[in-house]
Amino acid sequence: MGSSWRWQLSRSTRLVLRWCRQQKGGGGEGGRLWELWSYSKLLLRSLCYNSLADSDTLLDCVFEPVIWTVDSITRWFGVVFVCLVVLLTSSVVIIVYLFVIPTIISTYPVLLAVYHLSCGHWILLMISFHYYKAITTSPGHPPKDKLNTPSVSICKKCVTPKPPRTHHCSICNICVLKMDHHCPWLNNCVGHFNHRYFFSFCLYMTLGCIYCSFSSWDMFLDAYSAVESYNQTPPPDQSFKESTAHKCIIFLWVLTSTVAVALGGLTLWHARLINRGETSVERHINRKETKRLRERGKMFRNPHHHGKMKNWKLFFGVETRSHWLTRVLLPSCHPPDGDGIEWDCTFSRRYFLAV
Ligand SMILES: [Zn+2]
Ligand SMILES: [Zn+2]
Repeated sequence: MGSSWRWQLSRSTRLVLRWCRQQKGGGGEGGRLWELWSYSKLLLRSLCYNSLADSDTLLDCVFEPVIWTVDSITRWFGVVFVCLVVLLTSSVVIIVYLFVIPTIISTYPVLLAVYHLSCGHWILLMISFHYYKAITTSPGHPPKDKLNTPSVSICKKCVTPKPPRTHHCSICNICVLKMDHHCPWLNNCVGHFNHRYFFSFCLYMTLGCIYCSFSSWDMFLDAYSAVESYNQTPPPDQSFKESTAHKCIIFLWVLTSTVAVALGGLTLWHARLINRGETSVERHINRKETKRLRERGKMFRNPHHHGKMKNWKLFFGVETRSHWLTRVLLPSCHPPDGDGIEWDCTFSRRYFLAV
């Protein structure tokens, strides 16, 4: 039924066009219609014509409004997410200062209290420093005015050369050097110049949450049983401060345990990538390349993998032994190795030859 209707329609269109073609020479109504049809066809073809156009370009064009909407929402939500991180971290710090530290000072032995105070404040300092630096440090962008920039391709959006490991961020709408991903929790891209700050923030936030969760376990059990018994038979002598403290301790433990699990998983994933000398974007590309080359009987070798220990040293900028203390365990503003444009792959060549 449907196919016969379509056949009838195409037949009638052909008949109309044949009539127009016959009328063309006479300059009548049909001639003008033919002209209009020819112009429309030419216009449509000239709009669609591009020697590089393929199905991917067409899909990109079709999904462009959807991607634009998602990117705009993500950009806007970035500010909300940053406020949320600051708000939740501050709430945990306030609860610790109001209810946990007084208990530690009054009940713990001096040495244990000093240990908890030092450890807690060191983790807080590392979290605050790395979060601030991850937000405020630019991930790095390829230079637009330099003509001799080493590049592997041209960015279609920026129309500039793309150095190796550079990718375009559709949310920031710019190319990012050694792009890892766009992080809504930072409202910033994670790239060459702030990758270390991002990872250190994740690492210390996870450690801080694990530390809080473990050290407040006994207090959480006491608070939980107090709230449970209070709900059954409210004690007449319980003050507002006490009941608030119990609820805050429960909130602290639930929040830090949840974040420890969720962020712990993310940190482990990123640690695995650093171990392999890859970024999140390269993980997908390298996986595809490995599969493609395996089918041809070849082996894929990541040119940015220099061996596990060397990868970590390059990532943290560790050149001497003392750097493990001054650059990893203490706040440090040192820049990353290289400019993010040129990459030395001689390490990996030597490493793979040695293996
Ligand atoms: Zn770009
Ligand atoms: Zn971005």
